[in-house]
Amino acid sequence: GERNEIDLNSLAEEFLKLSYHGLRAKDKSFNADFNLDLDPAIPKIKVVEQDIGRVVLNLINNAFYAINSRAKSNGADGYKPMVSVHSRLIQLGDQPSGIELSIEDNGGGIPKAIKNKIFQPFFTTKPTGSGTGLGLSLSYDIIKAHGGDLRVKSKEGEGTEMIIFLPIEP
Ligand code: ADP
Ligand code: MG
Repeated sequence: GERNEIDLNSLAEEFLKLSYHGLRAKDKSFNADFNLDLDPAIPKIKVVEQDIGRVVLNLINNAFYAINSRAKSNGADGYKPMVSVHSRLIQLGDQPSGIELSIEDNGGGIPKAIKNKIFQPFFTTKPTGSGTGLGLSLSYDIIKAHGGDLRVKSKEGEGTEMIIFLPIEP
């Protein structure tokens, strides 16, 4: 695809709000908070906008799904579902080398036993019809095609953080 200069902060904010309002409209019992912490110092980056948009939306939708499931599970009294999106500039010495965009949720987390499977195509723990299992595999390929990296930090029962790294071309 063709690359364009985009502002990753605006893209992340737009998709977070789109996903949040979409879920609220579909499910009146959906009750969550989101938090945006975007570094205004991050420069524009040259990416395939549609592809990076798809990655960000995939990760945000996974995060909302995780908190929504936890909110609806037993023993969720007092649970405050939350998704946080955070961007920061990564420096290598005194040079900016990349941008990190993190999508963090306090959903149920990813069990150790499946952590090495979540990036496989068609792997899903969602009921039939709710997930294709393609989101993370596709997201990983897109980020790799941009010379970046997609990492996961997750603790069962605590939540999940997905971290996108995209290099800044010199
Ligand atoms: P899908 O969303 O269609 O299931 P994905 O490739 O996006 O496919 O995700 C694969 C699986 O990884 C999910 O079914 C789920 O088990 C796990 N997963 C992904 N993101 C999260 C998250 N934020 N919290 C908990 N589990 C997650
Ligand atoms: Mg998904």
